[in-house]
Amino acid sequence: MNVADRVAALPPYLFARIEQKIEECQNRGVDVISLGIGDPDLPTPPHIVQALQDQAENPANHRYPSSVGLLAFRQAVADWYRNRFGVSLDPRSEVVTLIGSKEGIGHISFCYLNPGDYALIPDPGYPVYGIGAALAGAENYPLPLKAERGFLPDFSAVPAEVARRAKILWLNYPNNPTGAVASLDFFREAVSFARNFDLIVCHDAPYTEITFGGYVAPSFLQAEGAREVGIEFHSLSKTYNMTGWRLGWAAGNAEVVKTLGSLKSNLDSGVFQAVQYAGIAALSGPQGCVRHTLQVYQERRDMVVQGMRSLGWQVDLPKATIYVWVPVPHPYTSTEFAELVLEKAGVVLTQGIGYGACGEGFFRISLTTPTKRLAEAFRRLKESFGR
Ligand SMILES: *Cc1c(COP(=O)(O)O)cnc(C)c1O
Repeated sequence: MNVADRVAALPPYLFARIEQKIEECQNRGVDVISLGIGDPDLPTPPHIVQALQDQAENPANHRYPSSVGLLAFRQAVADWYRNRFGVSLDPRSEVVTLIGSKEGIGHISFCYLNPGDYALIPDPGYPVYGIGAALAGAENYPLPLKAERGFLPDFSAVPAEVARRAKILWLNYPNNPTGAVASLDFFREAVSFARNFDLIVCHDAPYTEITFGGYVAPSFLQAEGAREVGIEFHSLSKTYNMTGWRLGWAAGNAEVVKTLGSLKSNLDSGVFQAVQYAGIAALSGPQGCVRHTLQVYQERRDMVVQGMRSLGWQVDLPKATIYVWVPVPHPYTSTEFAELVLEKAGVVLTQGIGYGACGEGFFRISLTTPTKRLAEAFRRLKESFGR
């Protein structure tokens, strides 16, 4: 059976080879420790689970939900934005519920990109931005994120003819995979670049609450004029350890929110209402659970950074996210190094090249492994690579 060109043209899955090697190691009896995937290991806080259990029993929630989401959930999102960022949103027109933010991130390209258009995507970056654009038949133009610029893109380096053909600008801060953060001034710069070239800014912001040492991440929607040019994607997944629940949202420009909602109404039928009620419990309930999660991540982050430094691998202390982005030691490529570490220590790292050409020269460590396992991983790394 011949698959459609758009599927045949999907980029090769870069982690296939390492996944095969992991399986080989496991078959040899190696106790492999994965520091690869960014999927929280901590459980969803009990009051959120309880809300789901209660709502699951209500037959009113057993029917098709609205594809744009319960108004009560969108209101909870609006209230959360006001409290957290001082941004006021109209829950009816400026918020749409998503089946996890990845769903909306993939679908927004179908709303705005025609063949021949460009999407400007961060490199390295979350692969879904570029894949959505490619599936919609558009071209991707990578914006290099360089360490010397704090992993922020340089808008002035985008050729004017590319910017004129571009429709969407993707941003993601706090950033996966680099752990970098952006200031409100940077978002203002993005607004003005978007205005000059009539771009829609899509800011992907699932890590605004995963921050350390007193750092408070801004929302793109706090920048003056942001709502005229863009939307922000957000998610319950990382803040409340809810990756399996599939609940997120997009908020901001009413026209973009409406267009995404109308596309969705043709493709899906929304999120199980009981899950949305659980989301309300998360956003409007006590936030001590988030502080606890952050303590755990911060302890692991410090363990990783100290461990790296004691191995002689230079690394900065990230202010946010569940990732540490580390330069690959000389003379390896990121793929060679990931394979070597797996072979010698039974530890899985993510090779930077998996996030784009500019990710080469780095590897990513995720903080979502139980602390004891993380300590064991560093014990092994020291044994194999210590000096
Ligand atoms: C985890 C993550 C998401 C999305 O998560 P959902 O579970 O789909 O809400 C989106 N963007 C980035 C960069 C992520 O790391």
